[in-house]
Amino acid sequence: MKIDSTLYSYYLEYNAAYKSKSQLIRVISENWFKDNMFCPFCTRERINIYNNNHPVADFFCDFCGEEFQLKSKRQKLGNIVVDGEYNKMIDAIYKNSVPNFLFMSYGLNFDCINDLIIIPKEFILPGIIQKRKPLSHFAKRAGWTGCNIVLKDIPDAGKIYVIKDKNVVDIQEVRAMVERINFYRKIKDIEGRGWIADVMNVITQIKKKVFYLKDVYAYVPYLRNLHPNNNNIEAKIRQQLQILRDNKIIEFLGRGVYKKYECDSRERCPEL
Ligand SMILES: [Zn+2]
Repeated sequence: MKIDSTLYSYYLEYNAAYKSKSQLIRVISENWFKDNMFCPFCTRERINIYNNNHPVADFFCDFCGEEFQLKSKRQKLGNIVVDGEYNKMIDAIYKNSVPNFLFMSYGLNFDCINDLIIIPKEFILPGIIQKRKPLSHFAKRAGWTGCNIVLKDIPDAGKIYVIKDKNVVDIQEVRAMVERINFYRKIKDIEGRGWIADVMNVITQIKKKVFYLKDVYAYVPYLRNLHPNNNNIEAKIRQQLQILRDNKIIEFLGRGVYKKYECDSRERCPEL
């Protein structure tokens, strides 16, 4: 089973048939996915395309049932990906009906995939959804309010690379990354998941492999802002650190010293 990050043959095949660039990239990427993309959540070698106009997802796995929505951008993914209606998105999060996301950036000339990231749906939380300005009353859909998904607020553990800088990541490695966050994916309560994700994100921000409790406490104002109703942020932080230790995301070295776990491949290891 091999993955190929080039798109050019698809471009040559479909370019003449599609005038709209957005339709063209949709057809190119769908065909690339059909031929290349495996299911990261089970052992299925390919995922399937939904028939046109499925409301929330573009692809699904016919074995484990996971659904995927693809968002593609030219050149770089950047920090923000534009998504649909704000309230619908927040509703879907609380109803646990958000699909997994596949974020793809492609070369200027549709020649290759630069980056392809899987964001497991459990990482799509209200805190990473940004409300956009409602459309003005001159617009056709006046008052309609869209949203952005803020990639930089998702912890590294929730951004699983399939292709990074045009390099294809080994499938076993991708699945190992998914395996690593299985404990997190099993937490059904959004508030509980939010706390772990926030603390994981703080640890991502601390750019050291070995860090201290005080490094995490430095983010108390940030966390208080996210959880204004919680009066004991420090205790909550310590509780999350224990959960992360029990699930081998971090290691306790004793006396308020922690270490981020190393992964098999240093190069691909997200700096948790
Ligand atoms: Zn599957």
